[in-house]
Amino acid sequence: MAVSYAEANDCTAVYIGAHSEDYSGYPDCRPEFFEAFQPVIDVGTRPETEIDLRAPFVDASKTEIVERGLDLGVPYDDTWSCYRNEPPACGTCDACAFRLQAFQRAGVEDPIEYERRPTYAEE
Ligand SMILES: [Zn+2]
Repeated sequence: MAVSYAEANDCTAVYIGAHSEDYSGYPDCRPEFFEAFQPVIDVGTRPETEIDLRAPFVDASKTEIVERGLDLGVPYDDTWSCYRNEPPACGTCDACAFRLQAFQRAGVEDPIEYERRPTYAEE
């Protein structure tokens, strides 16, 4: 869908926020997936279309991503990671657990509301 939108709007790149720590549960978060997907974009668009698939955080940890967002002033209270589709975030699904751990490691409290807010031991 993003590539179709990009082609229809003369965009030159599609960005995805996948990152390396999701490899285990989500094989399509691996760099190899994005490398394999680029030729699909190339053959699936008009010959004159050039759209790059970019995954700038693929090799970053979630903690590094949180820290980068803090540097950029990302309004984290407007972001969502939970598998639930409405607030409050559960605090226990994988997405919540990784997110909460990343904020904890960054030394900042995640501003969104959670049903449970477990703390994670450092490894
Ligand atoms: Zn959750």
